[in-house]
Formats: sequence, structure tokens, C-alpha cells
Amino acid sequence: MVLQGVGIGRGLAVGPILRMPEPLAEPGDEPSALAPDAEKVRVAGALAATAADIRLRGERAGGSAKDVLDAQAFMAEDPTLRDDVNARIDSGKTGERAVFEAFAAFRDLLVSMGGYMGERATDLDDVSQRVVAHLRGVPAPGVPDPDHPFVLIARDLAPADTALLDLDKVLALITSDGGPTSHTAILAREKAIVAIVGAVGALDLPDGETVIVDASRGVVTVAPSDEERAAAEATIAARAAVADVPIGPGALADGTPVPLLANLGSVDKLAEAIEKGAEGVGLFRTEFLFLDSEHAPTIAEQQAKYTALLQGFAGKKVVVRALDAGADKPLSFLNDEPEENPALGLRGLRALRAHEVILRDQLTALANAAADTTAELWVMAPMVSTVEETRYFVALARELGIKTAGVMVEVPASALLADRILADADFASIGTNDLTQYTLAADRLLGSVASFQDPWHPAVLRLVGEVGRAGAALGKPVGICGEAAADPMLAVVLVGLGATSLSMSPAALADVRAELARFTRAQAQEFAELALSANSAVEARAAVLSAATPLTTQPTESE
Ligand code: PEP
Ligand code: MG
Repeated sequence: MVLQGVGIGRGLAVGPILRMPEPLAEPGDEPSALAPDAEKVRVAGALAATAADIRLRGERAGGSAKDVLDAQAFMAEDPTLRDDVNARIDSGKTGERAVFEAFAAFRDLLVSMGGYMGERATDLDDVSQRVVAHLRGVPAPGVPDPDHPFVLIARDLAPADTALLDLDKVLALITSDGGPTSHTAILAREKAIVAIVGAVGALDLPDGETVIVDASRGVVTVAPSDEERAAAEATIAARAAVADVPIGPGALADGTPVPLLANLGSVDKLAEAIEKGAEGVGLFRTEFLFLDSEHAPTIAEQQAKYTALLQGFAGKKVVVRALDAGADKPLSFLNDEPEENPALGLRGLRALRAHEVILRDQLTALANAAADTTAELWVMAPMVSTVEETRYFVALARELGIKTAGVMVEVPASALLADRILADADFASIGTNDLTQYTLAADRLLGSVASFQDPWHPAVLRLVGEVGRAGAALGKPVGICGEAAADPMLAVVLVGLGATSLSMSPAALADVRAELARFTRAQAQEFAELALSANSAVEARAAVLSAATPLTTQPTESE
């Protein structure tokens, strides 16, 4: 039997499954036997203890897990939530019930907001369960801890659990709920955990059953045959050997350089990117710095952050994207009107243009930061859909002192007119996540249409080819910075289509570097032709994979 979900990253794992225990039963609604003040004291103690416990977990986990867990601790300390709990206690409810109801009400509010906020709902459920467990004096629900490695199955893991997964024991993670941008997915990608989210039916599998988890295809193979298991284990071993390949600049087998760059959303990950051999930054998502800000950041505030980034990559290329607000990443100071279809609304450069002073401040902060360092700063605009927008952005960037100004190609219109867009822009960077969403008309946040969100689709590849051709004709660089660049075989195809650099999450660099080194430019172009002539994403991938010698059967040097 096979289950389909959305794979996070490229990992592969084999092992027996174990399910997360079911959450605590809902507290009953019988009236409290205690006086309201006594209930309130109990709840205040449980909220404080839960916040302290979550913070401690964050400190132990470090990295962005710490930020996620600190945000959860703030939820437990949120005064509005506490007032709501106390009001429910005043109406005669038990502490357990009041906590359950108040958190659930807030959760429903977040869900109704959808997008990024909606995906934070799981975090609230987790905090609520932990507070109720505290009040009941029972252990908080959590990850099982057997004495052998296992594949963890859960409905949707809370950040507190994902952050602390013991990676020596948890071979892979499968969730039945959650989309590719849930916190589970974000943390799994960062920790390089083999993960598949949204695998419907996973919760019905019996504990102890063996599964193969193939994140690159989003497929869980239940009770595999001996041959399937042996093939998966051979691939895992071959990939482990690849991870030991020395780090050097990205290049094809014939020596054609393909610079491998990092996608970053904060300066915290800078050291890791350098350690994994990033040759610069291909996408710095500035909006991640300001997701929680209520006011537009000042020039000085921004300059400090950009200076830290550029100093970390002294002498290297750093591509910074202007704020990409809207859709799943609303910024309260840029997106003021609710929209029915935010992915098709005032997002990216459109929102910046509607608040030009914010764009001017950002470009000024970037130009100032660049003046103080030796890094080579390139700046690009998100969600550009016309030649006129390109001209607007490039002119403004130059006026404010940016030397290299380009655009992201994320909308089919920009890909189709890439020759004209690149006549004005210094470079293009293709955002395959959005380009796929807009080409296939499938919301990238919706689990129900996740199967359309496949950058192997020949329509997407044909558009990439348009941009590659325009770049080659005009002598302008064409980078790729969507998740597609992190898929090693697809990365080769993208180079065959004309991409001149690839940018990805640092965890993917080793696999992509190794795959590029196996093929010449002529082979990459052949694979690109094969993929373009397929009828579907599935056919394109299959055609290229069968034409390329699998890594597992590649002869070793001693053979
Ligand atoms: C993309 O759309 O591919 C991209 C890199 O931008 P983001 O994922 O931040 O929208
Ligand atoms: Mg995008």
C-alpha cells in the first residue's frame, strides 16, 4: 500500500512506525467545585509553569526552534487570553474547561484568518493541552521514547515536539494534517528531518509496521517488499557517501560553474550556510525579519540587519529581496485591506508601490549597508508581472544607490516576456514556488491542490526555458531560488534550461552539488528536452530519472 503526501526536502528513510499518543480528552463542562479565585490561582500557576517549560525546551533546541517556542511561551502568558480564561472561571467553569474554551476560541479566530496565521493554530492547541495537563497533574502529551529508531506518525506535530525530536531515534516524520508551510514543515526542513506532511490515512497504520518514507516523491510505502526495502537502503547508503564529498564550488562535470547559493530568512543561519559551502546568498527573504512588526522598520533598524548579513558574506554575492508582503506572509504595515484572493492581490512589488516610502527606506538602508562592506549586493523585487513594473523598480533602485537591480520571475507573464524584462533588469531570479502556483492555478498553501504544486510540470519548465533563453541572449544572469533548485535532479534540468546559479536552503547544498558534478552541460540540456516533451510532472520526472544513471548504481572508483 502507498500513501501520498507532500514531501519536505529530499530525504529517504526506512523503519517501523510509532504513533504519537492521542491528545488529552476534552475537559468536561461541569461547574467547578472551587471558588473562582482559587481556580484562577491554579490556572495562573499552570500557565506560568507551562511558559517556563516551553522556554526551557526552546533554549535546549536553539536556532529558529527557539524563536518558535518563545512565541508559544508568549501565548501562554498572553494577557488577553488570561482575561478570557478568568472571565470563564467567573461564570463557574473549572480551570481546565476555561483554558480549553479560551484557547479554542482564539484558535478559531486564527483559523478564520487563514494563511500564515491559520497555520499557527496548531501551536495554540499544543499550549492549551500542556496547560490542561499541568492542571490535571498528568504528563504533557509528547513524542514516544522507545529504545529503538522509529518513524514517527502524528496528526500534526507541535513545534515544541518537532524542535526536540531526538534525531538519532526519529528516522522520519509523517503527519496526516499540515501543509508545506506549517511549522512542522519549516522545522523539519531546517533540521533536515525526512518528512512527509498531509499523508491522509497515516494515522490508521498499526504501530510496528515497516514503511519507506520517500520525501522527494511525497510517498510512504507501507509494508514494502524485500526488493523495495533493499533498494531504499542502498540509496540511503549512497546518499550518505555523497554527503562526505568535499565541499567546493558548484560545477557541472565539464567544469561549467553553477554557483550554489543559500536561501536565508535571518542572519542566524549565516554560519551554517557558509559551513555547508554556500558561495553567497541567492535569496534573502527580508519580510521574515519583520513578520511581527506593527510598524514599518526604520532605515537604521534595517541597515543594522543588512550590514550583519553583508559582513558575513564579505567579498561574495548577496541577493536581497525587497519585502514580499501579502498572501501567506502579511505584514500589518503593508497589507491593510483584507482581500478575497490575496495571492492574486496587492502583494510583493504591488504592495510596496502602494507604500512607496517603505520601499524607498528599504532600498536606502540596503545601499547604506552595502557602502560599508565588500559584499556584492544585488537587490530584486518580488512578484513582478510587467515590463513597466520592472522599469519602475530598477529606476528607483538606481536612484537610491543600488548598483545591481533585478526582478523575480514568479508570474507566467514575466517569464513569457523575459526578453523585454531582462532588457531593463540586471538579472532575473526565478521563484519556482510561486511560478508553479500561478502557472497551475493552485494555491500553494492548500493541501487539497498540493499535487498541482509540482515544478517538474512541463508548463513550468517551458517558462523557465523562456527566461534562460532570454538571459543567454542578453548576457544576463538567471538564478533559481524556489524549492525546485533543492531537488538535485531537477536542479540539473534547470541548468539545462539556462539557469546560471541555484539558491536553496543550506541543508540541500551537498546533494545538489553532488548531482551537478555527475553531468555535463550537454547532458543537462538533453534532460531538459526530455522533461519538456513530457505531458505531466510525473512523466517528466520519470523520463529524466530513467535517463540519468541512478546514484546507487554508479560505479565506484575501485570498480
Ligand atoms: C518562490 O516563490 O519560489 C520564492 C522563492 O519566493 P517565496 O517562496 O518566498 O514566495
Ligand atoms: Mg515567491
